[in-house]
Amino acid sequence: MEAVKVFCPATIANISCGFDVLGVALDSIGDEMVVRKTSKEGIHITKIEGQDLPMETAKNVAGVAGMALLEDIGHQGGFEIEIYKQIKAGSGIGSSAASSTGAVWAMNELLGKPYSSLELVKFAMEGERLASGVAHADNVAPALFGGFTLVRSYAPLDIIPIPSPNELYATVIHPQIEVRTADSRKILKTKITLADGIKQWGNVGGLIAGLFTADYDLIGRSLEDHIVEPIRSILIPGFNEVKSEALLAGALGCGISGSGPSIFSFSKGKQTAEQVGQAMENVYRNIGVDYEIHVSQVNSKGIKIVDRI
Ligand code: ADP
Repeated sequence: MEAVKVFCPATIANISCGFDVLGVALDSIGDEMVVRKTSKEGIHITKIEGQDLPMETAKNVAGVAGMALLEDIGHQGGFEIEIYKQIKAGSGIGSSAASSTGAVWAMNELLGKPYSSLELVKFAMEGERLASGVAHADNVAPALFGGFTLVRSYAPLDIIPIPSPNELYATVIHPQIEVRTADSRKILKTKITLADGIKQWGNVGGLIAGLFTADYDLIGRSLEDHIVEPIRSILIPGFNEVKSEALLAGALGCGISGSGPSIFSFSKGKQTAEQVGQAMENVYRNIGVDYEIHVSQVNSKGIKIVDRI
């Protein structure tokens, strides 16, 4: 096998209470990439469609993540990469993570799988460092492992895949404004109160327990964020109204996807997820903000091959 075409899923990171530690992969939105083995050393990005992004290896997250893998393995030839973007950069649904994970996952396949998913996370995190200044793993981990993931520890890196109930659906609305991850990190406080900490780790534990036991009410009760959402939501027009309308329409919970501006809701069942989507859309229609909306089941597999070339 000399080349593969892969589907790289969009991901929701943070999931309200789990800033920098929780993430989930989506099914119905993602990029595609073609990765080809070459005798020429290094990573060469030969095509990008769908988005205006740098082709230069050192400026594209796919190039940076790919180089981290090549340096580790000791450069045996190189790879050409074509990127077909569906996920807009800066949307908050893991645009950069889709490209950095897609590159290293496909390279690993073409090399005969010398690396585990956990090792691939480390390479992909170098792409995240380029995109946002911080090598976070909450988008790359679910893209690589599928489903929900918990980054229990960054040093050493310890990633726990979490099961999810079959009827759990995500609705994601992306108001068409750009919030750069680096900017929405800068406004966060670096200290929290003990009282806020207590609420937050209670909710993280509750969410994990709810996912394990398919307790939808517990999942909903746990989708609270007392630390990041109150600050970041200021950057997202209509956030409070979108959230209250989503909850009124039957969502289990609603919060900021990644660093925003996308807003996610979880619902039990596709029909409710679609009704929630309509309620979220109405808010943006009324205030005249363009948007894109997606309803998706949880993607339990993560990145997958769509074609062998
Ligand atoms: P998201 O919030 O959707 O993950 P980020 O804001 O984290 O998006 O990342 C987008 C940033 O990464 C932009 O500055 C973009 O130019 C840069 N970038 C570099 N390469 C890529 C790529 N292949 N895909 C997406 N973004 C990329």
